[in-house]
Amino acid sequence: MSEGFTIAIDGPAAAGKGTVSKAVAAHFGFAHLDTGLLYRAVGAKVLAGIDATDAARGLVAEDLEDDSLRTPAVAQAASKAAVIADVRAALLDFQRSFAARSGGAVLDGRDIGTVICPEAPVKLFITASAEVRAKRRFAELAGRGIEDSFEAVLADVKARDARDMERVEAPLKPAADAVVIDTSDLTIEQAVAAAVEVVLKASQR
Ligand code: C5P
Repeated sequence: MSEGFTIAIDGPAAAGKGTVSKAVAAHFGFAHLDTGLLYRAVGAKVLAGIDATDAARGLVAEDLEDDSLRTPAVAQAASKAAVIADVRAALLDFQRSFAARSGGAVLDGRDIGTVICPEAPVKLFITASAEVRAKRRFAELAGRGIEDSFEAVLADVKARDARDMERVEAPLKPAADAVVIDTSDLTIEQAVAAAVEVVLKASQR
């Protein structure tokens, strides 16, 4: 595969994007960037009282290593900060430079195929029903000792979906040429295999 090959993976919360992205990156030996972490790091700073745009402009690598970024409160704060155009603009260059690195890159998020890397040779949109996604997120949170009711997790998923899809700046939607993979009835292995197959086909074109 050629240098600078970019794989753009988008989709709603808890659809399996992260798992598929990591596996696809490992399969092809590419670097992987979970762009949600950038927005989560901004969200965490907002919860600590910092202005969202200042936080986005001042992000440093260590900000992405905080374990608390994976909590529901930070996820909600991230999606609120993500509607702000200046926040998105501040995070753009970093994401594009990552995508252009030699050796190939997988970026996952909400707007990778539509805004960050519209020229990516492979675009995937990984989705699943809200109920299935909430079940997965509920199990994941429970596994990390974070107690929340299923109803609260489902409401959280739906609230983020609505905010992410209805915003004016870079709304969540599949790129016109994205391949959609619905993981509702797929195992992790099946979802990864489907994604790898799409990449292999695209690389042969
Ligand atoms: O992917 P993750 O759930 O960690 O993302 C947290 C939030 O960050 C999302 O709900 C979304 O609002 C925002 N986000 C975004 N654009 C991206 C990645 C994440 O707006 N590329």
